[in-house]
Amino acid sequence: IKRIAVLTSGGDAPGMNAAIRAAVRAGFYYNLEMFGVYRGYEGMIQNEIKKLESKNIAHVLERGGTFLKSARSAEFRTEEGRKKAYDNLKKHGIDALVVIGGDGSLTGAHLFYKEYGIPAVGVPGTIDNDLSGTDMTIGFDTACNTAIQAIDKIRDTATSHDRLFFVEVMGRDAGFIAINAGIGSAAAATLIPEKKMPIERLIERLKARTKAMKTSNIVIVAEGGKSGGAAEIAEKIKKQLPYYDIKVTILGHLQRGGAPSSLDRVLASKLGVAAVEGLLHGKYDVMAGIINNKIVYTPIAKAILGEKEVDEDDFRIAKILST
Ligand code: ATP
Repeated sequence: IKRIAVLTSGGDAPGMNAAIRAAVRAGFYYNLEMFGVYRGYEGMIQNEIKKLESKNIAHVLERGGTFLKSARSAEFRTEEGRKKAYDNLKKHGIDALVVIGGDGSLTGAHLFYKEYGIPAVGVPGTIDNDLSGTDMTIGFDTACNTAIQAIDKIRDTATSHDRLFFVEVMGRDAGFIAINAGIGSAAAATLIPEKKMPIERLIERLKARTKAMKTSNIVIVAEGGKSGGAAEIAEKIKKQLPYYDIKVTILGHLQRGGAPSSLDRVLASKLGVAAVEGLLHGKYDVMAGIINNKIVYTPIAKAILGEKEVDEDDFRIAKILST
């Protein structure tokens, strides 16, 4: 392997820049030529591929977003699209890929490897934390910090007015951000897709808290929840708790931005280097991750299965602390 291209794809996540920078630096360390593919697979199809120099990766580690930009590409899902992408890589003599993204992006890399034999190592970059083969994905910690800081501010106004707030956090079908935000911000309840909480139970809990003279109530709702989003749940509750002034806040895309936390910078840096080293050691079609503080390589086919679940302990602890 002489020429490696790096790309970021799918939803952006804080720390992607740090991962790109680490992969490129590692490439230079091992005397490789490093390329950047702009706008994910879409850029691969449109030939937006540029050789990267040291100056391209200066002062990006600490910045949110991704300087390579990210995109969702419908064309890459087609055989014709992937053929165009392959031809463009060959034009530049690129013989391996580092793909930073979520399960969709890694699925694309897996398929591409199967079809064209382009060695790829995936780097888990998504705020959702929904990839197996790593304790945490890049961006998750920063997103949790952002959510918790925002909820702290909401709590101030909730307390001043004795309000009940339903705060919706991101995470797609996974409740990792929600459960962390719930524990980290002393929520009255946390509703996650993995566990169904009947509305009646939520109402009982809120009534019990009113009796216990709790002055503020924040309910965290994961966006992919089975009982609906924060607005829907608030609507259902309203009639049963008429004495509450109920408000809904959807944190939305602010959870995707911001400078990466220390944890995300270090995680992204380790995984960026691990991705390039993996390629050099013949580890193809795998995702680099960290489990129990050790770098591990998991077949992409396994990492994307969606097997990672919110820990039972986390759920139990959130419940104990909100009762
Ligand atoms: P996040 O979970 O943060 O949104 P993601 O990587 O899962 O990130 P997706 O939009 O699912 O985001 O995937 C990113 C891109 O990967 C898609 O736009 C598409 O180009 C490619 N991709 C996803 N699934 C496939 C597939 N089955 N075959 C080929 N390419 C795919």
